[in-house]
Amino acid sequence: MMLELINLTKKYGRYTAVDNVSLKVEDGEILGLLGPNGAGKSTTVSMISTTLSPTGGEIRISGKSLHKHPLEIKKIMGIVPQDIALYEPLSARDNLEFFGCLYGLSGKALGRRVDEVLEIIGLQDKQKQDVSQFSGGMKRRVNIGAALMNSPRLLILDEPTVGIDPQSRNHILETVRRLNRERGMTVIYTSHYMEEVEAVCQRAAIMDHGKLIALGTKDELRESLGVLDTLTVDIQPSGQAKAADIENLPGVRRVALEPDRLVILLSPKEGSPIGILDALKQSGLQPTSFKYEEANLEHIFLQVTGKSLRD
Ligand code: ADP
Repeated sequence: MMLELINLTKKYGRYTAVDNVSLKVEDGEILGLLGPNGAGKSTTVSMISTTLSPTGGEIRISGKSLHKHPLEIKKIMGIVPQDIALYEPLSARDNLEFFGCLYGLSGKALGRRVDEVLEIIGLQDKQKQDVSQFSGGMKRRVNIGAALMNSPRLLILDEPTVGIDPQSRNHILETVRRLNRERGMTVIYTSHYMEEVEAVCQRAAIMDHGKLIALGTKDELRESLGVLDTLTVDIQPSGQAKAADIENLPGVRRVALEPDRLVILLSPKEGSPIGILDALKQSGLQPTSFKYEEANLEHIFLQVTGKSLRD
């Protein structure tokens, strides 16, 4: 077990920013921490990175209490905060060297690690340029590089792709996947972009109003929350179809009849698209094509919170 949060709580006066959050992150896992702005993600991450102290609960990393062993635990953690903290007049290479020195590296080992990290963040060509000339995305990559200098086992990224160019965004997503795949790094990836969490993370922890409201793989969340999938069937003309008959088929929750198609909301637990297509044919309808869309994290979020992630 890499990380365990036990009833973690942070209060500001009477306001509770993080409310009794408990979760476990396995070694080698990428966990997405997903939630709208103000949900409590940064506060959670800041407590894990020791920049904020909890008002209640406990954080355990690799089985040890963070409160009791902060220095030992910090050696295995890399933190990429939302705010970029680099030395602008220095080059990318000098910045990485500086952070390497902070972690106690020197001489050849430091040089080697800087080279490795420059390769990981894809900035070997630009290593001599001053960071002040870099785009927001390139600065963010140096920021990630700084967190990698001490070869962490646990990497925590707080909204790493906010406000940066698509190329750097893709590079960051690929870097996270690669660090996990090739080095077995455990990653906590905070974001309010559900596409990113879906693309990168094995499990998602959904937060809202400081509370952890759902946790699991996309399939587990769909299953446990009873989220509905959408089956769209093209039929010409759809006028022959009777909504009431279709609504009686297993798993069907709602049917919309459009001029040349049916849009069916289906509980994947109770019914299957194949079963419905068969039933439609047996009732004399001729489906010409169909599309089946599984509920994504956006739909799941909407269903558990009643609001969109982008609000
Ligand atoms: P997220 O990262 O999900 O956008 P945050 O963890 O930054 O959310 O914030 C959670 C809530 O805590 C927000 O409502 C925010 O206004 C509040 N908050 C954060 N920091 C402070 C603070 N220093 N004092 C009072 N309230 C705060």
